[in-house]
Amino acid sequence: TPSTEKGTDWIARAHRDHVLTSWSKQSGPDPITVVDAAGCWFVDSNGNRYLDFLSQLVNLNLGHQHPRLVEAITEQARKSCFIGPTFANEARSRLALELDALTPGNLTSSFFTTGGAAANEAAIAIARAVTGRHKVVARYRSYHGASAGAMTLTGDSRRWGLEPLTTPGVVRMLDPYVPGGGNVDDPRYSAAHLEEVLQYENPGSVAAVIMETVTGTNGPIVPPPGYLKSIREVCDRHGILLICDEVMVGFGRLGTWFGIEQFDVVPDILTTAKGINSGYVPLGATIVGAHIRDVLRDIALPAGLTYAGHPLACGSAVASIEIMKSEGVVENAATQGARLQRGLEELTQRHPSVGGIRGLGLMWGIDLVGADGSPLIPFKGTPEQSAPGLAVVKAAKERGLWIGRQDSVIRLAPPLIITADEIDLALSILDEALVHADEAVGV
Ligand code: PLP
Repeated sequence: TPSTEKGTDWIARAHRDHVLTSWSKQSGPDPITVVDAAGCWFVDSNGNRYLDFLSQLVNLNLGHQHPRLVEAITEQARKSCFIGPTFANEARSRLALELDALTPGNLTSSFFTTGGAAANEAAIAIARAVTGRHKVVARYRSYHGASAGAMTLTGDSRRWGLEPLTTPGVVRMLDPYVPGGGNVDDPRYSAAHLEEVLQYENPGSVAAVIMETVTGTNGPIVPPPGYLKSIREVCDRHGILLICDEVMVGFGRLGTWFGIEQFDVVPDILTTAKGINSGYVPLGATIVGAHIRDVLRDIALPAGLTYAGHPLACGSAVASIEIMKSEGVVENAATQGARLQRGLEELTQRHPSVGGIRGLGLMWGIDLVGADGSPLIPFKGTPEQSAPGLAVVKAAKERGLWIGRQDSVIRLAPPLIITADEIDLALSILDEALVHADEAVGV
């Protein structure tokens, strides 16, 4: 039994046989057992150290085991672990006030959830209740979560395994992006496209348009200048609510507290999770504008969770925000993000397999391309087609750099506390790892 077996081998074995792992075939390779972690680094049971250049699931913005955050959670646990959502609680009220102050425009009141999907579910339910309409426009290159409604909004191919999807009224539009062409400023993919979709759908039946401010997992897709503002204008023209999903990019990931600050747009509803407390305790938030809060004074909130506003989670977020402010974490994300961008631009010059880079702040993607400039790996490529991308990720991991890949894009998103030395180390490892993609291009 685990309690008597020496060593750590049983941990991976028990996981393999008794833990069902997200989005994976359960016959996959044995998981890595993580035995220690601090700051931007984690250590496996074989003693290998990894620079976590993905912040786990792009949520661990303050890095692993931040001592002040761990201490604050311990203190909150002593004060209040749980009190039901209808009671007022100090941690919950403090966090609501913090979010009111931190978010731009009239975003003012929060429904607290257990994560990003639940925040998007609540956003849609609120938009439908407030407008009395039922349709929702979402984009193809998107991920909004794995619960029924959030998965229906999701455009990413993870939805295929769950089809037929169960939430009626979700219609899709294209993204400001062309595969291989990067981010485009093309009316075919912006407000004019939305306007056309709305014509066919009957704008009077559409409650909301939901989009990631900067697309994360299916990107990065940085909207071209004016894109989000023009989407906002189309929404306003038809009385449609705009929901910005900042589950991944909220709380400093892009070098500002919220992504919307960089695009001069205030949505009616902002959803967030992940970086709100660096994922130390499950938490998400659906933050609504004062005009929506006012409507909700007279109709029942169409959302509720046993753990809505969980004090331990809210207390951890209050502490996390305080740490981010006092340690200049958002400023660091902007500074180190610029350093990472410069380094990646140099890699683009040196590696024929790198077609370009995309991103903002500390969320970047490297586009791997073939000799003709088209994506090196096709959308949903087979393992054989994906081999060059897999080889880059493997080479990086062997050198102690933990990175991700989606199709032809190498994904990078280090903790926001990353140092200049760690950025430089990651760049030098990437320089070596990308040679494997260059070989596939035939150079
Ligand atoms: N929205 C976006 C943009 C995300 O990146 C994610 C998770 O990766 C979600 C929603 C879902 O969040 P969760 O996994 O906490 O439900």
